[in-house]
Amino acid sequence: MIYTVAYYRNARKAWRVSFDADSIQIKCSCQRFETHGLPCAHIFAVLFFLDIGELPKCVIMPRWTKMAKQGHELAAAEQGNWMSDNLIYSRLGGLMSCCRRLCNIASRNADDYKSVREKVCNEIILLEAKHEVDNGAGCSSQANCSVVMDPTPLKRRGGGGTSD
Ligand SMILES: [Zn+2]
Repeated sequence: MIYTVAYYRNARKAWRVSFDADSIQIKCSCQRFETHGLPCAHIFAVLFFLDIGELPKCVIMPRWTKMAKQGHELAAAEQGNWMSDNLIYSRLGGLMSCCRRLCNIASRNADDYKSVREKVCNEIILLEAKHEVDNGAGCSSQANCSVVMDPTPLKRRGGGGTSD
């Protein structure tokens, strides 16, 4: 059964709410539930109209239920890639902010630079090994990490010959 829900004084804007009494499935054309995980006013209007005093399970996200803790992985999977992408970008931003500060300070002094570079490379190697990442182009080995070092100070020319 499909119901049309519209504003009382403005019927031009209307939403289509489908309700299947057998499977107790309810959906609205505004797709607020699919987008935000919360049932919309149009769904509530139809439930109220049908005198259904209980929210159908199909409009309750598992993460809002008592089972959320047990089904945590399931709920997380249901949130899909959108959530995980945002989480990754958020972490990336946080890490980059820390790294920028670290780089700004460490690059001012040769010993700090060498020490920080070694620590960072070791962390990269540990994490790559932990997650079995084979990043051929990056800092995947200690040898690669030591490629870029401080430039060797040029010897000053003195009196036409070489000096130490
Ligand atoms: Zn709706």
